Amino acid sequence: MEFSSELRQLLHIPQNIAVFSHRNPDGDAIGSALAMQHYLEQYGHTVHVLFPSEYPEEFGFLPGAEDILIWDIHTEECKQVLAKKNVFIFLDFNAYSRIDKLGDYVKNMPGKRILIDHHLYPEPISDFEFSDPAASSTCELVYGFITGLGDGQKINPTVGKCIYTGIVTDTGSFRHATNSNVFRITADLVERGVDDTGIQDKIFNSQKEKHLRLLGHCLANRMEYLPEYRTAFIWLTRKDYEEFDIQRGDTEGIVNYLLTMRDVKLAAFIHNQPTIVKLSLRSKGDFDVQEICHSHFNGGGHKNAAGAYSHDSLKATIQKFKDLLPQYKEALLK
Ligand code: 5GP
Ligand code: MN
Repeated sequence: MEFSSELRQLLHIPQNIAVFSHRNPDGDAIGSALAMQHYLEQYGHTVHVLFPSEYPEEFGFLPGAEDILIWDIHTEECKQVLAKKNVFIFLDFNAYSRIDKLGDYVKNMPGKRILIDHHLYPEPISDFEFSDPAASSTCELVYGFITGLGDGQKINPTVGKCIYTGIVTDTGSFRHATNSNVFRITADLVERGVDDTGIQDKIFNSQKEKHLRLLGHCLANRMEYLPEYRTAFIWLTRKDYEEFDIQRGDTEGIVNYLLTMRDVKLAAFIHNQPTIVKLSLRSKGDFDVQEICHSHFNGGGHKNAAGAYSHDSLKATIQKFKDLLPQYKEALLK
């Protein structure tokens, strides 16, 4: 990473900073935002973390999580806090549309913008851009940002815990999107006192009975397997949402079970949220789901994990997804 003297100066004088991450924040969104906050506060900056929507309960253990401002809940407080901000840091997203109304609000505010992200095709929304789609996670890049600025000693166990959280969640516990740097960083974090297995226990062993019942329902009653396209998908209806009392985040990770089938290369989870139909696509190897989400559903993400929304009905969205498969057959069977 290259750092201009303008950026160094900006960060070394106390500023009023807002740190943002994307809607439906995941471990990398929360981890990178809180790591950045705990790092910047060591320089005397005043820092607030703002998300468009709530984060899953299992990340509540992260230091500072309780102070995160959620636009959907604390709209007025978000506006008051933002009025004083002069530096905006965008983490784990690269387009204003990913932070919903928060994006509309911040778009035209005066101030310097720093973007650190690993999604493809960043939009030109920042003055200082650190975008690397080859990185495992935004947290990997935050580690690179802090050490690149010569501040490795500021990665204390609090900052480290947050960085580890993003790395371990975005790599599916070191199963995908890894690189040698990820293991070097993780070893360094453990040496600095990060309790790696304790954090994994808090994040991954946090399921409730209803989550396992819902997973059983998905696999037994809502799964379709199309071996001729090496594709499997799961769908959930609005009625399922009521019956299983599904809240935001309860369906996280379900799509990944489909990839555990040996011959499945493309997996989808298509579900009816209150006002829209959400698609989550996952793939193995070279098959690019970002392209499918981008070209056909106006979404995006990464090669092996992407998402999108549709305003069609659930039935129509499932049909559209199935109708696309013939044109990808060659790539799926390769
Ligand atoms: P998920 O399926 O878990 O919601 O998202 C998988 C990946 O795709 C994440 O990296 C997320 O940031 C990205 N993603 C999910 N939904 C959308 C969307 O509607 N638009 C874009 N551009 N990216 C998305
Ligand atoms: Mn990420």
